[in-house]
Parts: sequence; C-alpha cells; structure tokens
Amino acid sequence: MRRSGEGGSNAGDKCSICREQFSKDMLVEREIGDYKLLYFCGDCIQGLSSDAEKLHTHDHQ
Ligand SMILES: [Zn+2]
Repeated sequence: MRRSGEGGSNAGDKCSICREQFSKDMLVEREIGDYKLLYFCGDCIQGLSSDAEKLHTHDHQ
C-alpha cells in the first residue's frame, strides 16, 4: 500500500535552507536546544561559508 505525500521515513531529510531532499549522509545535522534538528546540505554550507568569509573580510576593512 502506498501513502501519498511524504516519502518513506528512511529516504532522508530536507535541507533546512533550500528544502531539497537529501539522504542523511549528505546532510550535516545540527541540534538546536533539546529538540529541534536542522539539516544542511553541502551546497548550502558552502554558500554560508563563502558568505561568512565575505562578512569577515568586510568586517576587517
Ligand atoms: Zn541546501
């Protein structure tokens, strides 16, 4: 029997930023407080990283 809507529970999770679905080994997991889990994919992490570098260099000038 098929359920419509969400896929199987072992299909992975969605990136919290771009909302794409990835398998869990493609995602970095962050726990916020005691209960909330966020997942980030590599592309979004790289984006954040380059943004952070911009902030850093910008802050330095
Ligand atoms: Zn993402």
